[in-house]
Order: sequence, then C-alpha cells, then structure tokens
Amino acid sequence: MLYVSAAAAVLIILAVMFSVRYPWWKKRKDGLVILLYHHIGAPPAKSKYKRTWVKPKNFVRQLDWLSANRYTLINFDGLLKIMAGKAQFPQKPVIITFDDGYKDVYQNAFPALKEKKMKAAVLPVQEAVGKYNFWQDPESEAWTDIMTEEQLKEILKSGVFSYGSHGLTHKNLAKLPPETAEYEIRESRARLENTFGAPCAVFAYPYGGGADDDKINSFISAAGYKISISSEQGVNPLPLNTAKPLKRIRINRCTDMLQFKLKITGG
Ligand SMILES: [Zn+2]
Repeated sequence: MLYVSAAAAVLIILAVMFSVRYPWWKKRKDGLVILLYHHIGAPPAKSKYKRTWVKPKNFVRQLDWLSANRYTLINFDGLLKIMAGKAQFPQKPVIITFDDGYKDVYQNAFPALKEKKMKAAVLPVQEAVGKYNFWQDPESEAWTDIMTEEQLKEILKSGVFSYGSHGLTHKNLAKLPPETAEYEIRESRARLENTFGAPCAVFAYPYGGGADDDKINSFISAAGYKISISSEQGVNPLPLNTAKPLKRIRINRCTDMLQFKLKITGG
C-alpha cells in the first residue's frame, strides 16, 4: 500500500514538473505574437547567459514550424502599414525581433530568413553599432560583435529586416535621471534615422526597464515612436492596443519544439 502511494506521489510530482515546463493547460490565445531573440549561434565558453544563444538549426526548425502552421511573419514596416489602415493583419501574424543587433544574427539568421522569404526586425543599441556589448561585464558574458553600419544597411535594404531603437547605451531607463532617459530615447532615434534613412518607429526597453513608467512612455511618444515593445511575456490581442507597450515571447537555447508551440499559442 505504501509503495502504491509513494509511486502515485512520484507520478504527481512528475506531472506537475511536466506541466510547468510544458504549459499545455493554458488557454489558446490569438493575436499578434512578437518573438524575442538575442543571439543565433554558439555561446562563448564561459558565458553565463547561454540561454540567449539559440542554435542555428533550432532557429531554422522554428521558422519551418511557423510556415508549416500557416503563421505569417511581418516586420515593423508591415505593422506600421496595418496601423495606418493601409493593410490588414494577415492570418496568425508573428514578428521576430532581435534585441541588441549582434553580428551572429547577420551571419546565421539573415541568410535563413532571406532564403525562406521571411521577415524580421532588429533593435540595435545605437552606440554599440560596429562595436560590441560594452554594457555587459566580460567576466560573465564575453564581448561579442554587434553588426557594423554596413551590415545593418544591407539587411535593411534587403527588405527582410526593419528596425527600431534599443537606446543609445543599453541602460535601464527606470534607473536613470529623467533627462538622461529622455536623451537615450530621443537621441538614439535621431541618430539611427540619420544613419539608416528609414523611419525608426519602434522602441524596445533595455532590460524591459521603464515599460510601466508613465514618464518614460511619454518620452517615447514625444520622441516620435509609434510603438514600444517590452520584455513582458504574452501574446497581444487584436485589435492591437499600441497605447501600451506590446508583449513579447522569449525564445531561448533550451526552448524545444513542443515548448515553442505552446509558447506561441498560449503566450
Ligand atoms: Zn538588450
């Protein structure tokens, strides 16, 4: 009898563990799905943030799953057209976003997206273009290259990518004096537009900081951005409410295909 109840307890624990990793019980949510990636490639040996490095072959599998399941990838240009009433949301819309603007995205994601005629968006840190992730401590995350101006121009010109701003120096806006936060927001947009020509209409909060701060959000709209995107997890219901920061879904190194599917359908 004791064995039976011990076995039952083990089964219950396993079922709970499975349900936490794979939230099959979440109600299906429809809307705009915005995926959040950082790196596509192999992490540096001593990286403490290995989770942000998605394997190229997994990224390709994720793209293939999206097209096999009739999701439509749009980018920020497409979203702005929809917001302006010049187009309608396609079936099951998805935006793939890459924060920070790493060179491995140019090397490993861009060719796959181009080949499959899919779209995505990049959010570079303006002062890091052509440099590296200087805001991180190299003891915990090795400095890795950020795309150069030429590489960014190439991926934007290809029509595969559109872009937004991720600030000047990747500082947490919630922890800055208001005038410095305002400068990060406004100046990054002005410099990016000056360099790349195309309108910069989207802002992504570094570390997700300030997304729930009315003052920060008023700086974002006053600077001329039309959309802000946070790091908060979730699917964005339609019709889209762009008065608030849009939610995203993080895709990590350990995200397997079942989790990927559940994240996209359940938020
Ligand atoms: Zn970032």
